[in-house]
Amino acid sequence: MAKKQFKAESKRLLELMINSIYTNKEIFLRELVSNASDALDKRYYLSLTQPEHRVEKEDLKIRIERHPEERTLVIEDTGIGMTDKEMETNLGTIARSGSAEFREKLEKGEDNIDIIGQFGVGFYSAFMVAQKITVESRSAESDTAFRWTSTGQDGYTIEPSEKETAGTRITLWLKEDTEDEKYSEYLEEQKIRDLVKKYSDYVRYPIVMEVSKSIPDPSDKDNDIITVEDETLNSMIPLWKKNKNEISSEDYNEFYKSKFNDWQDPQKVIHYSVEGNLSYTALLFIPAKTPYDFYQADYKSGLQLYSKGVFILDKAKDLIPEAFRFVTGLIDSDDLNLNISREILQQDRQVKALASSVEKRIQRALEDMLKNEREEYEKFFENFGLNIKYDIYRSFGANAEKYRDLLLYRSSKDNEFVSLKEYKERMPEDQKYIWFASGSAIDEIEKMPALEKVRDKGYEILYFTDAVDEFVVSMMTEYDGVQFRSVSKGDLDLDTEEEKKEREEKAEQNKDMLSLMKEALDDKVREVRISSRLKDDPVVLVSDEGMSIEMEKVLSQNPENRGMMKAVKILEINPNHPVFSTLQKVFEQDQDKLKEYAGVLYDQACLIEGLPIDDPVEYARRIADLMIQATK
Ligand code: ADP
Repeated sequence: MAKKQFKAESKRLLELMINSIYTNKEIFLRELVSNASDALDKRYYLSLTQPEHRVEKEDLKIRIERHPEERTLVIEDTGIGMTDKEMETNLGTIARSGSAEFREKLEKGEDNIDIIGQFGVGFYSAFMVAQKITVESRSAESDTAFRWTSTGQDGYTIEPSEKETAGTRITLWLKEDTEDEKYSEYLEEQKIRDLVKKYSDYVRYPIVMEVSKSIPDPSDKDNDIITVEDETLNSMIPLWKKNKNEISSEDYNEFYKSKFNDWQDPQKVIHYSVEGNLSYTALLFIPAKTPYDFYQADYKSGLQLYSKGVFILDKAKDLIPEAFRFVTGLIDSDDLNLNISREILQQDRQVKALASSVEKRIQRALEDMLKNEREEYEKFFENFGLNIKYDIYRSFGANAEKYRDLLLYRSSKDNEFVSLKEYKERMPEDQKYIWFASGSAIDEIEKMPALEKVRDKGYEILYFTDAVDEFVVSMMTEYDGVQFRSVSKGDLDLDTEEEKKEREEKAEQNKDMLSLMKEALDDKVREVRISSRLKDDPVVLVSDEGMSIEMEKVLSQNPENRGMMKAVKILEINPNHPVFSTLQKVFEQDQDKLKEYAGVLYDQACLIEGLPIDDPVEYARRIADLMIQATK
């Protein structure tokens, strides 16, 4: 029979498992039971929705067999089973959702033990304790069974086999005991009992094992009669149906990790029940880390949906609003129809009501966290805040009112996170706007010439470093009656009447010079004007109302938009900078030279803004000329 090879990264993972010195090998049982439970869920759902595949609920179970003589442990389920093709794809590669991240860690050669602790879950973990594994399976939708066999790294075989009923039977040939590892303990009744209680108690199908019972012998009081009988090892009460005060945080964490394919404890658990028109229980989790593919288009969000404890759907998107799509977990409702499908879910009124109730709960949990566990909230926001911003933008501001108080920004005040509410509360009385400055990084923003005047006034400035920030603000326009204002857009509206008058006079006096400069720059700028925002720098490029320069940069990253989206730019000159008087002199002596200087200053302003300059060679040549002239 031809041996097939595992996919490359699966091979590496297997190698790790086989040679593992990981101390927590016992988790293999949790993984196999969890797979069996998933398979039973699928079978039951099929039975409910397609009458020809009907099964009785009593027939859905997991059986564990111990065979000490053969040193084998068997985990069998009456679940959905697998065809030969499914065996090939499911058992030949790592199916885990964290596999890309896992691969990365493998490549970096991170500590193996860590990798197993974090990722070494799933079917392959059985190779930590077994030297050979067979998987005999018959799909519920097929009459033929197959057997998958592997001793690990050197590949696997798949061959036809016999199996009376649908489901999967996994046999582990345990490794030989060593000084440090007693694999034979997995053949002990008590050990299996303990492991099932510890990791799989909440599994909603019976996990049955043959156990020996001793009862006193009535005819011989010194001896007991030993009988063998089947016993269900788990309580089968789903974790979410248990009383909250009976659940430890460890229980939640284990449950989360085994069910939602994460290797870290969740950051936050939200567990509650609602009684009323639509009764339901929710057990929701906020991951402690952003999933590596969270912002990729094919990331699948959504909650598991159960009806009266029966699993219906995975990744049901309609149960959770986009803004909170980082939440995973499940909803169990007694009032939902079992036959609900993904399509119905979208239109169903009950589901809509449910989703809106879930949304409110999550929102409240986040608000509470912001209020009472600031540090935790900031961690959360670093992970998922961007998603909330996107949602406000994508809803064209419709969701702004709802979510704006969840937003945090770094600001000029100690570089700490600040909420809009806090910002507003600590605004000096004479401050009229919520100020912001945009750039790709904080230290870049802090150096922006346009910032100076606002900062000097003692006004706090929000630092916008996410590409979406300005777009969000353009949708919100104001917070609680206070408008947002960019330090590098339009008129700052900071001057006193006197300063304004002075500036207008200066503009009038230098009108001809400014318009000659504008003429030299042609349509690169709409205007060259006297600046009211500069202190130490000679020039700055700002934008008029409408699109900002930062937005132009963001939009032009999309090749489709390149060159189409342009901010209306204005070159501002600092009238108090020595360069200004130089310009005045040059204007009187040599107008061609003034035009040339206008070009240099414009290029400089572009560089400060992080915009490309049209002709770097020409710019360099002019700077060199200026140096030579300076010493003439
Ligand atoms: P995961 O459970 O995270 O998907 P695993 O490596 O544990 O990863 O399992 C890979 C796949 O093999 C599962 O997704 C499932 O499709 C299939 N599988 C594993 N065990 C069983 C089983 N007992 N019955 C049916 N299919 C199974």
